[in-house]
Amino acid sequence: MYPASFDYQKADSVDQAIAALAANPDLKLIAGGHSLLPAMKLRLAQPPALLDIWGIQEMKGIQRDGDWFVVGAMTTHAEVLRSDLPLFPEVAGWVGDPMVRNRGTIGGSLAHADPSADYPAAALALGVQFVIRGPDGERTVDADDMFVGMFESAVRSGELLTHIRIPATIQASAYEKFRHPASHYAVVGLAVARHADGTVRAAYTGAAERAHRLPALEAAVNGSQAIPTGLVDAGDLLGDRFASAEYRAHLVDVLAARAIERLG
Ligand SMILES: Cc1cc2nc3c(=O)[nH]c(=O)nc-3n(C[C@H](O)[C@H](O)[C@H](O)COP(=O)(O)OP(=O)(O)OC[C@H]3O[C@@H](n4cnc5c(N)ncnc54)[C@H](O)[C@@H]3O)c2cc1C
Repeated sequence: MYPASFDYQKADSVDQAIAALAANPDLKLIAGGHSLLPAMKLRLAQPPALLDIWGIQEMKGIQRDGDWFVVGAMTTHAEVLRSDLPLFPEVAGWVGDPMVRNRGTIGGSLAHADPSADYPAAALALGVQFVIRGPDGERTVDADDMFVGMFESAVRSGELLTHIRIPATIQASAYEKFRHPASHYAVVGLAVARHADGTVRAAYTGAAERAHRLPALEAAVNGSQAIPTGLVDAGDLLGDRFASAEYRAHLVDVLAARAIERLG
Protein backbone atom coordinates (compact mmCIF):
# COMPACT_ATOMS: atom_id res chain seq x y z
CA MET A 1 0.00 0.00 0.00
CA TYR A 2 1.61 3.19 -1.21
CA PRO A 3 0.18 6.70 -0.92
CA ALA A 4 -0.57 8.78 -4.00
CA SER A 5 2.30 11.12 -4.85
CA PHE A 6 2.48 14.43 -2.96
CA ASP A 7 4.65 17.51 -2.59
CA TYR A 8 6.53 17.94 0.69
CA GLN A 9 7.87 20.91 2.66
CA LYS A 10 8.96 21.64 6.24
CA ALA A 11 8.35 24.46 8.70
CA ASP A 12 10.74 25.34 11.55
CA SER A 13 8.47 27.81 13.39
CA VAL A 14 4.76 28.43 13.96
CA ASP A 15 4.95 31.72 12.03
CA GLN A 16 6.57 29.93 9.08
CA ALA A 17 3.87 27.22 9.14
CA ILE A 18 1.02 29.76 9.20
CA ALA A 19 2.59 31.73 6.33
CA ALA A 20 3.00 28.49 4.30
CA LEU A 21 -0.63 27.49 4.93
CA ALA A 22 -1.83 30.96 3.87
CA ALA A 23 0.24 30.77 0.67
CA ASN A 24 -0.99 27.27 -0.26
CA PRO A 25 -4.47 26.19 0.96
CA ASP A 26 -3.79 22.65 -0.40
CA LEU A 27 -1.08 22.03 2.24
CA LYS A 28 -1.95 19.41 4.84
CA LEU A 29 -0.15 19.42 8.19
CA ILE A 30 1.75 16.28 9.14
CA ALA A 31 2.92 15.86 12.76
CA GLY A 32 3.82 12.30 13.85
CA GLY A 33 2.07 10.89 10.78
CA HIS A 34 0.55 7.96 12.69
CA SER A 35 -3.02 8.80 11.72
CA LEU A 36 -2.41 10.63 8.45
CA LEU A 37 0.03 8.21 6.79
CA PRO A 38 -2.13 5.08 7.30
CA ALA A 39 -5.05 7.01 5.79
CA MET A 40 -2.87 8.09 2.85
CA LYS A 41 -1.64 4.53 2.29
CA LEU A 42 -5.24 3.31 2.17
CA ARG A 43 -5.98 6.25 -0.21
CA LEU A 44 -8.65 7.46 2.24
CA ALA A 45 -6.70 10.74 2.19
CA GLN A 46 -4.81 12.05 -0.85
CA PRO A 47 -3.42 15.47 0.08
CA PRO A 48 -1.53 17.01 -2.84
CA ALA A 49 1.08 18.55 -0.50
CA LEU A 50 2.30 17.99 3.09
CA LEU A 51 3.69 20.55 5.54
CA ASP A 52 5.92 18.74 8.06
CA ILE A 53 5.79 20.43 11.51
CA TRP A 54 7.95 17.85 13.34
CA GLY A 55 10.86 20.34 13.57
CA ILE A 56 8.94 23.16 15.32
CA GLN A 57 10.71 23.25 18.70
CA GLU A 58 8.38 25.88 20.23
CA MET A 59 5.55 23.30 19.99
CA LYS A 60 7.43 20.65 22.01
CA GLY A 61 7.69 19.90 25.73
CA ILE A 62 5.79 20.44 28.98
CA GLN A 63 6.02 23.48 31.24
CA ARG A 64 4.30 24.64 34.45
CA ASP A 65 2.54 28.03 34.36
CA GLY A 66 0.96 28.66 37.80
CA ASP A 67 -2.12 26.46 38.11
CA TRP A 68 -1.69 25.10 34.58
CA PHE A 69 0.56 22.75 32.68
CA VAL A 70 1.31 24.00 29.17
CA VAL A 71 1.94 21.11 26.78
CA GLY A 72 3.29 21.64 23.26
CA ALA A 73 1.10 20.04 20.60
CA MET A 74 4.17 18.25 19.18
CA THR A 75 4.89 16.48 22.47
CA THR A 76 4.89 12.73 21.81
CA HIS A 77 2.72 10.16 23.58
CA ALA A 78 5.94 8.67 25.05
CA GLU A 79 6.87 12.03 26.63
CA VAL A 80 3.32 12.41 27.97
CA LEU A 81 3.56 8.89 29.44
CA ARG A 82 6.72 9.82 31.40
CA SER A 83 5.35 13.20 32.61
CA ASP A 84 3.76 14.48 35.85
CA LEU A 85 0.59 15.61 34.07
CA PRO A 86 -2.75 14.60 35.59
CA LEU A 87 -4.52 11.67 33.89
CA PHE A 88 -2.81 11.99 30.47
CA PRO A 89 0.15 9.68 31.37
CA GLU A 90 -2.28 6.88 32.24
CA VAL A 91 -4.19 7.50 29.00
CA ALA A 92 -0.96 7.64 26.92
CA GLY A 93 -0.11 4.16 28.24
CA TRP A 94 -3.21 2.89 26.43
CA VAL A 95 -2.30 4.43 23.05
CA GLY A 96 -1.14 1.96 20.40
CA ASP A 97 2.30 0.43 20.94
CA PRO A 98 5.81 1.84 21.65
CA MET A 99 6.37 2.74 17.97
CA VAL A 100 3.12 4.74 17.84
CA ARG A 101 3.87 6.39 21.18
CA ASN A 102 7.41 7.41 20.15
CA ARG A 103 6.22 9.24 17.05
CA GLY A 104 2.54 10.16 17.52
CA THR A 105 1.80 13.51 19.18
CA ILE A 106 -0.78 14.71 21.68
CA GLY A 107 -1.69 17.63 19.39
CA GLY A 108 -2.04 15.40 16.33
CA SER A 109 -4.40 13.11 18.19
CA LEU A 110 -6.57 15.91 19.63
CA ALA A 111 -6.71 17.94 16.39
CA HIS A 112 -7.57 14.80 14.40
CA ALA A 113 -10.61 14.05 16.67
CA ASP A 114 -10.76 10.35 15.80
CA PRO A 115 -13.99 9.12 17.46
CA SER A 116 -12.08 6.12 18.90
CA ALA A 117 -9.02 8.04 20.15
CA ASP A 118 -8.27 7.98 23.88
CA TYR A 119 -7.19 11.57 24.67
CA PRO A 120 -10.49 13.37 23.89
CA ALA A 121 -12.26 11.79 26.89
CA ALA A 122 -9.39 12.87 29.17
CA ALA A 123 -9.41 16.39 27.71
CA LEU A 124 -13.15 16.75 28.43
CA ALA A 125 -12.89 15.33 31.96
CA LEU A 126 -9.91 17.57 32.82
CA GLY A 127 -11.40 20.71 31.24
CA VAL A 128 -8.38 21.26 29.02
CA GLN A 129 -7.95 24.50 27.03
CA PHE A 130 -6.70 24.42 23.43
CA VAL A 131 -4.44 27.20 22.14
CA ILE A 132 -4.90 27.60 18.37
CA ARG A 133 -3.01 30.02 16.09
CA GLY A 134 -3.87 31.13 12.58
CA PRO A 135 -3.52 34.12 10.25
CA ASP A 136 -5.79 36.21 12.55
CA GLY A 137 -3.75 35.47 15.70
CA GLU A 138 -4.28 33.20 18.70
CA ARG A 139 -7.54 31.94 20.23
CA THR A 140 -8.31 29.60 23.12
CA VAL A 141 -11.00 26.94 22.84
CA ASP A 142 -12.51 25.11 25.84
CA ALA A 143 -12.56 21.31 25.74
CA ASP A 144 -16.38 21.37 25.53
CA ASP A 145 -16.13 23.20 22.18
CA MET A 146 -13.15 21.31 20.71
CA PHE A 147 -14.66 18.08 19.41
CA VAL A 148 -17.19 19.08 16.81
CA GLY A 149 -17.91 15.81 14.98
CA MET A 150 -16.38 12.66 13.52
CA PHE A 151 -12.75 13.53 12.66
CA GLU A 152 -13.70 17.19 13.10
CA SER A 153 -12.19 19.49 15.73
CA ALA A 154 -12.42 23.25 16.25
CA VAL A 155 -9.05 23.72 14.44
CA ARG A 156 -9.90 25.45 11.15
CA SER A 157 -8.15 25.33 7.81
CA GLY A 158 -5.03 27.55 7.91
CA GLU A 159 -4.66 27.13 11.69
CA LEU A 160 -2.41 25.08 14.00
CA LEU A 161 -3.10 23.69 17.44
CA THR A 162 0.07 24.94 19.17
CA HIS A 163 -0.44 24.14 22.87
CA ILE A 164 -2.76 22.46 25.33
CA ARG A 165 -3.36 23.91 28.80
CA ILE A 166 -4.14 21.31 31.46
CA PRO A 167 -5.25 22.23 35.02
CA ALA A 168 -2.47 21.38 37.50
CA THR A 169 -4.90 21.36 40.45
CA ILE A 170 -6.69 18.07 39.70
CA GLN A 171 -7.18 16.10 42.95
CA ALA A 172 -7.75 12.63 41.47
CA SER A 173 -8.44 11.03 38.10
CA ALA A 174 -8.89 7.68 36.35
CA TYR A 175 -9.25 6.27 32.82
CA GLU A 176 -10.90 2.94 32.05
CA LYS A 177 -10.81 1.46 28.55
CA PHE A 178 -12.25 -1.51 26.70
CA ARG A 179 -9.94 -1.71 23.73
CA HIS A 180 -10.49 -3.25 20.34
CA PRO A 181 -8.39 -6.44 20.26
CA ALA A 182 -7.07 -5.78 16.73
CA SER A 183 -6.64 -2.00 16.48
CA HIS A 184 -6.19 -1.30 20.23
CA TYR A 185 -8.30 1.86 19.78
CA ALA A 186 -11.10 2.49 22.30
CA VAL A 187 -14.34 0.56 21.82
CA VAL A 188 -15.23 2.67 24.84
CA GLY A 189 -12.87 4.79 26.94
CA LEU A 190 -14.09 6.58 30.05
CA ALA A 191 -12.31 9.36 31.96
CA VAL A 192 -13.16 10.97 35.30
CA ALA A 193 -11.44 13.80 37.17
CA ARG A 194 -12.05 15.46 40.54
CA HIS A 195 -11.27 19.17 40.24
CA ALA A 196 -9.90 21.62 42.84
CA ASP A 197 -13.42 22.60 43.99
CA GLY A 198 -14.28 18.92 44.61
CA THR A 199 -16.61 18.51 41.64
CA VAL A 200 -16.18 15.59 39.26
CA ARG A 201 -16.22 15.81 35.45
CA ALA A 202 -16.64 12.69 33.32
CA ALA A 203 -16.51 11.90 29.60
CA TYR A 204 -16.46 8.95 27.22
CA THR A 205 -14.90 8.25 23.83
CA GLY A 206 -15.18 5.46 21.25
CA ALA A 207 -18.92 4.92 21.46
CA ALA A 208 -20.27 7.83 19.41
CA GLU A 209 -19.31 10.07 16.50
CA ARG A 210 -17.17 12.14 18.92
CA ALA A 211 -16.23 12.22 22.60
CA HIS A 212 -18.93 13.52 24.95
CA ARG A 213 -19.29 14.60 28.59
CA LEU A 214 -21.40 12.31 30.78
CA PRO A 215 -23.90 14.61 32.57
CA ALA A 216 -25.86 11.75 34.19
CA LEU A 217 -22.70 10.40 35.85
CA GLU A 218 -21.51 13.87 36.89
CA ALA A 219 -24.91 14.70 38.45
CA ALA A 220 -25.00 11.43 40.43
CA VAL A 221 -21.44 11.72 41.76
CA ASN A 222 -21.63 15.44 42.53
CA GLY A 223 -25.02 14.93 44.22
CA SER A 224 -23.65 12.00 46.30
CA GLN A 225 -26.24 9.69 44.75
CA ALA A 226 -25.90 6.09 43.59
CA ILE A 227 -24.66 5.81 40.01
CA PRO A 228 -27.61 4.85 37.80
CA THR A 229 -27.35 2.45 34.88
CA GLY A 230 -28.34 3.57 31.40
CA LEU A 231 -25.96 6.55 31.59
CA VAL A 232 -26.17 6.94 27.81
CA ASP A 233 -28.94 6.06 25.36
CA ALA A 234 -27.86 3.38 22.86
CA GLY A 235 -29.82 5.31 20.22
CA ASP A 236 -27.15 8.04 20.41
CA LEU A 237 -24.24 5.60 19.93
CA LEU A 238 -22.53 3.87 17.00
CA GLY A 239 -22.46 0.12 16.45
CA ASP A 240 -20.41 -2.15 14.21
CA ARG A 241 -19.70 -5.86 13.70
CA PHE A 242 -17.48 -5.94 16.77
CA ALA A 243 -19.71 -4.07 19.26
CA SER A 244 -23.35 -3.03 18.90
CA ALA A 245 -24.60 0.33 20.17
CA GLU A 246 -26.38 -1.49 23.03
CA TYR A 247 -23.13 -3.23 24.03
CA ARG A 248 -21.27 0.07 23.96
CA ALA A 249 -23.96 1.64 26.19
CA HIS A 250 -23.47 -1.25 28.63
CA LEU A 251 -19.68 -0.72 28.54
CA VAL A 252 -20.16 2.94 29.47
CA ASP A 253 -22.04 1.86 32.63
CA VAL A 254 -19.43 -0.75 33.57
CA LEU A 255 -16.40 1.49 32.95
CA ALA A 256 -18.05 4.42 34.75
CA ALA A 257 -18.54 2.33 37.89
CA ARG A 258 -14.89 1.16 37.76
CA ALA A 259 -13.52 4.66 37.18
CA ILE A 260 -15.55 6.22 39.99
CA GLU A 261 -14.48 3.45 42.39
CA ARG A 262 -10.84 4.25 41.58
CA LEU A 263 -11.46 7.96 42.17
CA GLY A 264 -12.12 7.10 45.85
C1 LIG B 1 -1.08 1.00 14.87
C2 LIG B 1 -1.67 2.23 15.49
C3 LIG B 1 -2.37 2.12 16.69
C4 LIG B 1 -2.94 3.23 17.29
N1 LIG B 1 -3.63 3.07 18.47
C5 LIG B 1 -4.19 4.14 19.04
C6 LIG B 1 -4.94 4.00 20.27
O1 LIG B 1 -5.06 2.91 20.85
N2 LIG B 1 -5.48 5.13 20.78
C7 LIG B 1 -5.36 6.35 20.20
O2 LIG B 1 -5.89 7.32 20.72
N3 LIG B 1 -4.66 6.52 19.06
C8 LIG B 1 -4.08 5.45 18.47
N4 LIG B 1 -3.36 5.62 17.31
C9 LIG B 1 -3.25 6.98 16.69
C10 LIG B 1 -2.04 7.71 17.25
O3 LIG B 1 -2.33 8.11 18.57
C11 LIG B 1 -1.67 8.95 16.41
O4 LIG B 1 -0.35 9.26 16.73
C12 LIG B 1 -2.48 10.20 16.65
O5 LIG B 1 -3.82 9.95 16.49
C13 LIG B 1 -2.17 11.30 15.64
O6 LIG B 1 -1.02 11.98 16.00
P1 LIG B 1 0.10 12.28 14.92
O7 LIG B 1 1.05 13.21 15.57
O8 LIG B 1 0.62 11.00 14.40
O9 LIG B 1 -0.75 13.09 13.81
P2 LIG B 1 -0.70 13.02 12.21
O10 LIG B 1 -1.05 11.65 11.76
O11 LIG B 1 0.54 13.62 11.69
O12 LIG B 1 -1.91 14.02 11.89
C14 LIG B 1 -3.25 13.66 12.15
C15 LIG B 1 -4.16 14.79 11.69
O13 LIG B 1 -4.07 15.91 12.56
C16 LIG B 1 -3.60 17.07 11.83
N5 LIG B 1 -2.64 17.72 12.76
C17 LIG B 1 -1.56 17.15 13.31
N6 LIG B 1 -0.97 18.00 14.17
C18 LIG B 1 -1.70 19.15 14.14
C19 LIG B 1 -1.60 20.39 14.83
N7 LIG B 1 -0.63 20.64 15.73
N8 LIG B 1 -2.54 21.35 14.56
C20 LIG B 1 -3.53 21.11 13.67
N9 LIG B 1 -3.69 19.94 13.01
C21 LIG B 1 -2.78 18.97 13.24
C22 LIG B 1 -2.99 16.55 10.55
O14 LIG B 1 -3.11 17.50 9.49
C23 LIG B 1 -3.84 15.32 10.29
O15 LIG B 1 -5.06 15.69 9.68
C24 LIG B 1 -2.80 4.52 16.69
C25 LIG B 1 -2.07 4.65 15.48
C26 LIG B 1 -1.51 3.53 14.90
C27 LIG B 1 -0.75 3.69 13.61
